[in-house]
Amino acid sequence: MVALGKVRTKDRLRIAGICNDDHCLLCVTGTDACTHLFFRCSFSRNVCLGILDWLKIRSSPDEYVYVSWRKWGRKYKSRRMQQVCYCALAATVYYVWKARNISLWQQSVPRIEVWVREIKSVVYRRIKAIVNSKWSAHELAWLSELAQNIN
Ligand SMILES: [Zn+2]
Repeated sequence: MVALGKVRTKDRLRIAGICNDDHCLLCVTGTDACTHLFFRCSFSRNVCLGILDWLKIRSSPDEYVYVSWRKWGRKYKSRRMQQVCYCALAATVYYVWKARNISLWQQSVPRIEVWVREIKSVVYRRIKAIVNSKWSAHELAWLSELAQNIN
């Protein structure tokens, strides 16, 4: 839905006459729009930077998620490692949207470092659950290094 720009952000709801303002709930200076949330918003950019750093992808977040995803998989030759990166990108998108909704309904923005740690943790747990004997020693060592850098 994010890649298609179809999430129900305030900019769309305002046009439909459902709400009056379209301020971003995470940074307050931007517009609550898909193009802002993924990843122009200072909150989402910083969360994204934390995850890119964890994966050792030396790239700044692109402004649009549908540009970003190509870079996230390009760093590694291993298909499994690429899949971990894509999993991390999907989790980042999900958690930015979750933070936006927490801000909307609970009037509190999660702390960036807490959110980054949560994304790392959930990605690691999901990947750890699918590791099997086909994973190479190199891939396992990389995964182990990710686990050590969750906190
Ligand atoms: Zn924002």
